[in-house]
Amino acid sequence: MDEKTLTRFKKALLEEKQRILNNSENTLKNDLVLSTDDLADETDLTVSELTQNLMFKLRDRERQLLNKIDQALGKMDEGTFGMCEDCEESIEPRRLEARPVSTLCIACKELQEHKEKIYA
Ligand SMILES: [Zn+2]
Repeated sequence: MDEKTLTRFKKALLEEKQRILNNSENTLKNDLVLSTDDLADETDLTVSELTQNLMFKLRDRERQLLNKIDQALGKMDEGTFGMCEDCEESIEPRRLEARPVSTLCIACKELQEHKEKIYA
């Protein structure tokens, strides 16, 4: 994968990450409003505690996506981004365009889904 394409994917991933974090920041702000009403006497509630709270409240899907984005960014540093984790072939560019966090090529992904159906 050439440098230019890699940079483009990296930008897309960072933007997606920022979007999720912005969303959670809004959730946090709403939370703060609620907390001051609910816990008027509770003055020692630190921001980090609230943030921790928020992380639990973050919807699973978003948390998983954040993990996947971080993994993908880590792979970029390692130079393995865009490589299938199973067969180590290059993941189809079209697949990465649609979903930069993909870790399997289409063939391996289909195989995995097929297995999941059998063992589910
Ligand atoms: Zn594969």
